[in-house]
Amino acid sequence: MPSATPKAAFLGLGAIGRPMAARLARKMDLTVWNRTRARAEEFAAQHGARVGKTPRETAAGAEVVVTCLPTSAEVDQLLDGPDGLEAGLARGALLLDCTSGDPAASRRIAARLGAHGVAFADCPVSGGTNGAEAGTLTVMVGADDATFVRARPVLEAFGRRIDHMGDVGTGQAVKAVNNALLAAHIIAFGEGFAALAKAGVPAGKALGIVNASSGRSFVSEVLAPERVLSGRWPRTFRLALLEKDVRIALSVLDGNGVRGPLLHLVGEIFGQARAALGDAVDHVEAIRLIEREAGVEIRG
Ligand code: NDP
Repeated sequence: MPSATPKAAFLGLGAIGRPMAARLARKMDLTVWNRTRARAEEFAAQHGARVGKTPRETAAGAEVVVTCLPTSAEVDQLLDGPDGLEAGLARGALLLDCTSGDPAASRRIAARLGAHGVAFADCPVSGGTNGAEAGTLTVMVGADDATFVRARPVLEAFGRRIDHMGDVGTGQAVKAVNNALLAAHIIAFGEGFAALAKAGVPAGKALGIVNASSGRSFVSEVLAPERVLSGRWPRTFRLALLEKDVRIALSVLDGNGVRGPLLHLVGEIFGQARAALGDAVDHVEAIRLIEREAGVEIRG
């Protein structure tokens, strides 16, 4: 007897992909693939999923395939070759790319897959690893209307707010600009609060005022108390990925003829932070570099 549960595949069990896939496994018959196979096997054992040997085998027979990789370059790599994802996607299947990727690359991928009857949507997410675990992510979708209607019930496995932004690439454009704003807020917070700490103002006191005033942001309200003032610096979203997002945002500005001197400077600062701190550190750790340069810690 064929199973009534729809078949899905998920490729890319990283920091955010893994909890998203875990939510999907609750409502779909799931096959997973991960570059480091041991992670896929451990996931499958825990969530009752199967492990595909190759991207091609993973996608075979799936109505919907979800990818969540660092950048669009890795999505392209995964599609390519005789064992690649493209070879496994059947006519009529749907590929949802949750990578915070590059809009131009997604438009190329959509055209490439559309040529053999596979629908595509870029569906980047925001809300962090906690939001993925709780199923409360915000999802911004770039797709034609019919593809968005098909994508929504799948995305509801891990998303709470799911908005259609426009054609393919627009979900990723919105995500990139959102994250460029996050990056700007991180740097601005670090610079301002390093100065206040040196001026002898306790960080907690200053934060109380900012969060009751017009300078507040997600950084001041959530990230600063949770990660900076506490000195905990948890690693949930790599600085290298945020730097990539700022670069994508800059390409959206450039492509639309917007000069953007401030965001270009934020991109430079994050490029320097990535070079100084490496690829593994968390995005908020850019503030540690500011602390180090200023010779002060923002705590308390
Ligand atoms: P991670 O770096 O934690 O995980 C990356 C995943 O991609 C891993 O499964 C890794 O496999 C796989 N991978 C890396 N390179 C390749 C490759 N060449 N071929 C195949 N697979 C590869 O990233 P995140 O999960 O944090 O992020 C994924 C995407 O989601 C990014 O675009 C990010 O910007 C976005 N995002 C992340 C958020 C977060 O809070 N972490 C929040 C919102 C969006 P392996 O296990 O072998 O290393």
